Amino acid sequence: MAALLRPRLLVSRLFQPLCWAEGGEAAAAGGEAPCRSQRLLVQGGLISPAAPGCYHYLPAAVRALEKLVALVDGAMRAAGGQKLSMPCLSAAEAWRASGRWERMGAELFRLADRHGKGYCLAPTHEEAVTELLAAQSNLSYRQLPLRLYQVTRKFRDEPKPRLGLLRGREFHMKDMYTFDASAEAARRSYELVCDAYGRLFRALGLRVVRVQADAGAIGGTVSHEFQLPAEVGEDRLALCPAGHFAANAETISAEQAACPTCGEPLTRTRGIEVGHTFYLGTKYSSVFNATFCTAENKLQLAEMGCYGLGVTRILAAAVEVLSTEDSIRWPSLIAPYQVCFIPPKKGSREEKGAALLERLYDDVAEAAPQLAGDLVLDDRTQLTIGKRLKDADRLGYPYVIIAGKKACGDPAVFEVWSQNAGEVTFLTREGVIDLLSKVRVS
Ligand code: ATP
Ligand code: MG
Repeated sequence: MAALLRPRLLVSRLFQPLCWAEGGEAAAAGGEAPCRSQRLLVQGGLISPAAPGCYHYLPAAVRALEKLVALVDGAMRAAGGQKLSMPCLSAAEAWRASGRWERMGAELFRLADRHGKGYCLAPTHEEAVTELLAAQSNLSYRQLPLRLYQVTRKFRDEPKPRLGLLRGREFHMKDMYTFDASAEAARRSYELVCDAYGRLFRALGLRVVRVQADAGAIGGTVSHEFQLPAEVGEDRLALCPAGHFAANAETISAEQAACPTCGEPLTRTRGIEVGHTFYLGTKYSSVFNATFCTAENKLQLAEMGCYGLGVTRILAAAVEVLSTEDSIRWPSLIAPYQVCFIPPKKGSREEKGAALLERLYDDVAEAAPQLAGDLVLDDRTQLTIGKRLKDADRLGYPYVIIAGKKACGDPAVFEVWSQNAGEVTFLTREGVIDLLSKVRVS
C-alpha cells in the first residue's frame, strides 16, 4: 500500500521568528548581557522571554525538548524506571512535616486556595512521592526496588533568574525516586541510575563529569553532581587531568591542590550542574512512615534515593557548549529538525531544480519514516540560496540539501551539507535517499 503522503513542512509557515540582527537585547531580562545559548535560542526563534526566569518554548524548541525527553525516558527505563506524573500544586502540610516549608524560605512559590489552605508550586517532589508510597499499606519487599520518575515543570523563586533556560524560575526537570529494601540495595539503585546518566550524556555527545557534592537542602549522606564544564557555569570544579578525581570546589578544602590518587595538580574550571543524585536513606521515609513488609512479616522503612536532571537546562547547556558565536549546534539526536531542503531562487536560471527537490523531499519522507516531521522545505524562494543557507547554518540543521546549478544537470546532483561530518558533498537523488535513510533519531 502506498504510504500516505504527509503535507510538506514549509519554512514560511513555521512559527519560528528569526531576529539575528537584534543583538539579543530582547533575550536579557534585567539588563545583564545574555549568554550564548540564551541569545542564540531567542534569535533563532526557539524561545521568547515571558517574565523573569520564564520563557515561551516555541515549536522548534518543543521538538528538541520532546526528543530529549524521549532519550531520558529510554535511559530511565533502562534503569528500571516507571514513569508517573505528580501534581505541581503541593499542599503545605507535607512540607511542614519534613521541615522544608520553613527551610526552603523565599525559594518556594507559596499560594493559598479559596479556603485559605496553603500550597506551593512544587520545586521538587520528595514529600509528594514519599506520601504516595506511605499510603500503600500493603507494600511488600517483593515489590521493591521501586524506581518512579516523572518529567514535569518545577518552580523555584530563584534569587537571580539568569542565563536564559540555564537558571529559570519555571523549568522542566526529570526527577526519579527510588525505594529499596536495604541500604545495600539502595546503593545498587544509586549506581544504576548514575550509569544511566553517564550513557545519556555520552549519547548527547556532552563531556559531563560526575563530581562529589554536598547534599545541601535535600539532605542525605552521599551525593554527586553531573557537571558540564563551561565558562558560564555557576559552579567551580576541581578536576584531576587524568580523570581520577572530580569535586565541586566548594566541598574540598582550599589547600587541596593535588589529586588524591595520582598527585597531579587539580585543574580548576567552571561547570553547569546538569544533574544531581542523592542517597537519602530513611530521611523522608521516616517522616511519612513509608514502610514495606519484610520477608519476616515485619514493617521496615524504605531506603530512598532521589535523582534530578535539569531537562531544559541540559538543552540550553548543550547549545551553550556546542555552538559557535553565531551558529547554533545541537547534539544531532535532539536537533529540532534533521534536514532542510533549499530550492533555487524564484526566477533564477536554476528554477527548474525546484520540482526535483520537492520530489526528493517526498521520496526521503517515504524512504526514511523515522524522519517524519524532521524535514523542512525552505520555500522562501524570494531569497537567494545563499541567504537561506546562512539561516540554515545558524539554526544548525544536521543536514542541508540544496538544488543549485548541478540539479539542472543529467543526472541531477544535489549539494549536501552534513554538519557532523563537517563536509559538503554532491549526491544524486539515490545518494541523498541512501544517506538520509540511515539517519538515527531518538
Ligand atoms: P543549582 O545549584 O544550580 O541551583 P540545585 O542543586 O538547586 O541546582 P537540584 O535541586 O539538585 O538543583 O535540582 C535537580 C536539577 O534541576 C539540577 O541538577 C539542575 O540541572 C536543574 N535545576 C535546578 N535549578 C534549576 C533552575 N533554576 N533552572 C533550570 N534548571 C534547574
Ligand atoms: Mg538551586
